[in-house]
Amino acid sequence: MNLFAALRAGFPADLDATAIDADGALYSWRDLERGSAMLANWLGRLDLPAGSRVAVHADKSVEGLILYLAVLRAGFVYLPLNPAYQASELEHFITDAAPGVVVCAGKNFGWVSKLAFQRGVRWVFTLNDDRSGTLLDRATQMSDVHEPAHREASDLAAILYTSGTTGRSKGAMLSHGNLLSNAKTLRDFWDWKPSDVLLHALPIFHVHGLFVASHGALLNGSKMLWFNKFDAAAVARRLPEATVFMGVPTLYVRLLQEKQLDTRNIRLFISGSAPLLIETWRDWQARTGHLILERYGMSETLMLTSNPCRAEDGERVGGTVGPALPGVGLRILRDDGEACATDEIGHVQVRGPNVFSGYWQMPEKTAEEFTADGWFKTGDVGRVDARGYLTLIGRSKDLIISGGFNVYPAEVEGFINELPGVGESAVIGVPHPDFGEAVVAVVTATGSLDAEAVIAALKTRIAGFKVPKRVIVMAELPRNAMGKVQKKLLREQHAGLFN
Ligand code: ATP
Ligand code: MG
Repeated sequence: MNLFAALRAGFPADLDATAIDADGALYSWRDLERGSAMLANWLGRLDLPAGSRVAVHADKSVEGLILYLAVLRAGFVYLPLNPAYQASELEHFITDAAPGVVVCAGKNFGWVSKLAFQRGVRWVFTLNDDRSGTLLDRATQMSDVHEPAHREASDLAAILYTSGTTGRSKGAMLSHGNLLSNAKTLRDFWDWKPSDVLLHALPIFHVHGLFVASHGALLNGSKMLWFNKFDAAAVARRLPEATVFMGVPTLYVRLLQEKQLDTRNIRLFISGSAPLLIETWRDWQARTGHLILERYGMSETLMLTSNPCRAEDGERVGGTVGPALPGVGLRILRDDGEACATDEIGHVQVRGPNVFSGYWQMPEKTAEEFTADGWFKTGDVGRVDARGYLTLIGRSKDLIISGGFNVYPAEVEGFINELPGVGESAVIGVPHPDFGEAVVAVVTATGSLDAEAVIAALKTRIAGFKVPKRVIVMAELPRNAMGKVQKKLLREQHAGLFN
């Protein structure tokens, strides 16, 4: 049971049909089949030990996706890395993962190969986003026939490093079975059809773009409109041809700034990776008539919950991430380990065939994050309502304890975001001599904004201990590639505020 073989079985009968339209460069299903065979044959030639990692630090391209398929097909372990990582970051991942092969952009070959060879990597190839590079040069010499390597469901298919939002990135080990079970669950729950056309504008070094988006299309033989980079105007131009769009919240915010948004053929807009502001959800509905489907997942678990797609599965509710997906176990626990009541806020724990087997080279960390009875501690805090819908409140690491009281940043952010002149906000806790931690709000302004006025307005709306002691206005909130606000960075920047 090789995941590649399962995806391949979803390709349409007509292999000459277009699988991917990358700004006019057309790839047929046969191109994916043959290209991945040639690359898999080349990888097979390198005499790599079983279980070797193939680390890819390259700009997004269709060939990068084909390389992913080839690594699965050959039975090796795919390890994508954000191409924006610089030397010190890459050094950590290469040392940690000890890959057998590193693939990088030609422009970075000098420093990447030096770093890789010094750490014992045997092979370094280049892959550019214009269909060039030494990897493709080698692969074109190879046969285009390849029998997928036999793999068990529990065999490792990929290592995905987490986004590093709360600390140093950890390598989540995902098996062929984890990935396939989640892909099949989403195919059914999101009602994928071969006639769907997915607009793919997300990076492919992360769960969202690589697995959720690409697997969805491949497993269903659905065409993709492919963008190496997100450009709101270019995406808006092709939107009329698409039926499914997936984005992180920032993509929706940026699309809303476009003058023309023709969504007449879209049946499903999906958002995830970071919290979607209810304001954005409402603006999107007002502008397009569509209710964005928000879902929740992690590198360690793939997708966990999702708002319904079909009306018969229930209502799509903004501000929530929906009920647990079929086959996924979800529970909310108090600090003392007791189950929370309906609507009570607590720690989110999950289990299911989608949940990873552990962190790469971190057995203690893995043991810490699983409960004795086998549930994975997500590190997220939330509540489940009477219908079973999960609302995420934040991360347990972001929870603020001020003067002995728990403050949930998301609740305070909700009130701040409603104030006139506020764009968005991030509420953090910083060390305070009296309170232990003090609540601080970092906000962006859409017009003129007075920090003291924000504090005064909040005093009339929420309990005193939740009101920020300080409001800091910034031009922009710091975000990573997946649009996640970097609260860790904000806490570091403002750590000395009350000293
Ligand atoms: P790290 O684990 O290294 O701190 P990370 O948790 O951000 O980084 P990912 O695995 O990429 O790394 O992201 C998973 C997290 O993203 C979830 O635990 C959750 O906090 C957040 N997330 C995902 N989807 C949503 C969503 N729809 N709404 C709010 N948060 C979400
Ligand atoms: Mg995490």
